[in-house]
Amino acid sequence: MSILRDSLRDIVVVGSGIAGLTACDTLRAEGFDGRITVIGDEAVAPYSRPALSKAMLRDEDDLTSHLLPEATHGAIERRGIAAVGLDVDRQRVRLADGDEVPYDALIISTGTRARRLTPGSRSDEYTVRTLADALALRARLASRPSVVVVGGGPLGMEIASGAIGAGCATTLVAKGTPLAAHLGALLAARFHDAAVAQGLKIVATDSAKLVMRDGASVVALGDGTVIEAQVIVSAVGDAPNVEWLATTGLLTGGALVVDRRGLVRPNIAAVGDVAAFPHAGRVARVPLWTSAIDQAKVAAAALLRLDAPELAFQQYFWTEAFGISLKAIGPTPVAGEAEIVEGTGEQGLLRWRQADGRATAVALDYRVPIPKLRRVTTCSV
Ligand SMILES: Cc1cc2nc3c(=O)[nH]c(=O)nc-3n(C[C@H](O)[C@H](O)[C@H](O)COP(=O)(O)OP(=O)(O)OC[C@H]3O[C@@H](n4cnc5c(N)ncnc54)[C@H](O)[C@@H]3O)c2cc1C
Repeated sequence: MSILRDSLRDIVVVGSGIAGLTACDTLRAEGFDGRITVIGDEAVAPYSRPALSKAMLRDEDDLTSHLLPEATHGAIERRGIAAVGLDVDRQRVRLADGDEVPYDALIISTGTRARRLTPGSRSDEYTVRTLADALALRARLASRPSVVVVGGGPLGMEIASGAIGAGCATTLVAKGTPLAAHLGALLAARFHDAAVAQGLKIVATDSAKLVMRDGASVVALGDGTVIEAQVIVSAVGDAPNVEWLATTGLLTGGALVVDRRGLVRPNIAAVGDVAAFPHAGRVARVPLWTSAIDQAKVAAAALLRLDAPELAFQQYFWTEAFGISLKAIGPTPVAGEAEIVEGTGEQGLLRWRQADGRATAVALDYRVPIPKLRRVTTCSV
């Protein structure tokens, strides 16, 4: 029997990315027929952020890859305005224009922003977090400038792949082998080899910063090497958008920590990239698309039903770069040898069994053969 919290009539969602959108849809699916108000500081409807560093940079004419189906939740949508404060006692969200929006329950889904090599916003340092960012970089790449990308994670590799695809002489600056920290040595080597074969120059460094030289920014590495390029893109991680909550008492050491059902308080949930949640023996943010969706579903239900289930978190991640498509279910990075579950050396399903008993399945579509694989016939991830 579900125990409904019937007193809720007004739910406010701050942040209109995929987590906010999913929360709204879930509230309706759970039968909530009260008022939902969504506050988002971007002027556009929610869109697919993963597309920004993939098809958006790669496809010549397609500017639709980021579009999501039109919302059907019937919420009041206040776009292009930021929440700048929150009064937990009076249950009100304060907006940049001075307006206050009251709530019975609140869902915080303000996501993250791109970290930068230099503090503050610098016009000649590109990042890719928003649609506006991606459109600006796409337009700049069209004139085939030389490019340096700083950051060897999935985002850095996807951007470098887009730059190479656009015909730009491109250098990637990374700590160690790109993607190794995210995927493990074997899978990272496949992306590395494909990238180098397609003309990417990879420079390993312990540190990188932007410095001014002759009126333009250059990338200065730890060993004193300087890399010049017409376009500098940083892909050096993200920072949660929690500043507007600074005086609320909701933050723990600067982090927005939720329980296993996504709640910070009985009537306040936090979901998506902004929220740190308990999983796999730790409390951490997992800034991934399906993580945001899964968190939002659980937390929206938890606001409405006291008996709503906890999050059963299963990591799912995908990336596309240099002609390789990878989809991974389960924890990464993976270490040691893989088993081929299905397919050939060119594409297929691989599996790693972790020391703690968990397994990771990886679907790979790649052009270069993967060595050191052991063939098996079943998979039960
Ligand atoms: C370029 C790129 C590629 C990615 N690729 C992948 C991928 O391949 N696979 C994968 O799993 N994940 C990928 N991700 C991560 C994935 O996109 C995120 O995990 C997901 O979008 C998080 O959704 P969210 O709703 O929590 O946050 P966001 O999408 O960041 O949405 C938060 C929204 O809240 C707004 N906001 C912030 N502060 C305020 C405020 N004070 N008031 C009002 N509104 C505010 C923000 O502007 C934003 O619109 C990628 C991310 C990026 C940037």
